[in-house]
Amino acid sequence: MMNESPSIRIGNGYDIHRLIKGRNLIIGGVKLQHPDDLGLDGHSDADVLIHSIMDALLGALSLGDIGKYFPPSDNNWKNADSLFLLSQVIQMIRNQGWEVINIDSVIVAERPKIKPYVELMKKNISTTLRIDDGLIGIKATTNEKLGPEGREEGISCHSVALIRKK
Ligand SMILES: [Zn+2]
Repeated sequence: MMNESPSIRIGNGYDIHRLIKGRNLIIGGVKLQHPDDLGLDGHSDADVLIHSIMDALLGALSLGDIGKYFPPSDNNWKNADSLFLLSQVIQMIRNQGWEVINIDSVIVAERPKIKPYVELMKKNISTTLRIDDGLIGIKATTNEKLGPEGREEGISCHSVALIRKK
């Protein structure tokens, strides 16, 4: 154990959801249009970006992952709005006396093009976290047709979050 607890901590989060017919494609609280009408499958709204950010924030304080707080077995979270779940997570972080320095995410998706939606995603996330949208980075990349993202079997997202003691 350390004698002195650090005043800055980092967390990383990863998530992937399957692309299927008959589901909405919600990323960063924005409804996107997939050229083949595919959406992300999951118990909640399957917002892969928000889930990875939640896991990064929880990870920064060693609080576990979202499955611990919002288990798929709990019907309260069926089709849940992930921005609401994020608001619950940031409250936990704040209650422990911490605030966000910045967040950086990369979405891995072959289609659709993510870039046109990035500003709206940032706005949704910064509003939910009540921080400046300049503290949120969202990048997108294709997987060069490789792997599950490249074959459009799913969309994944990686995030890191840096937080500081208030
Ligand atoms: Zn998820």
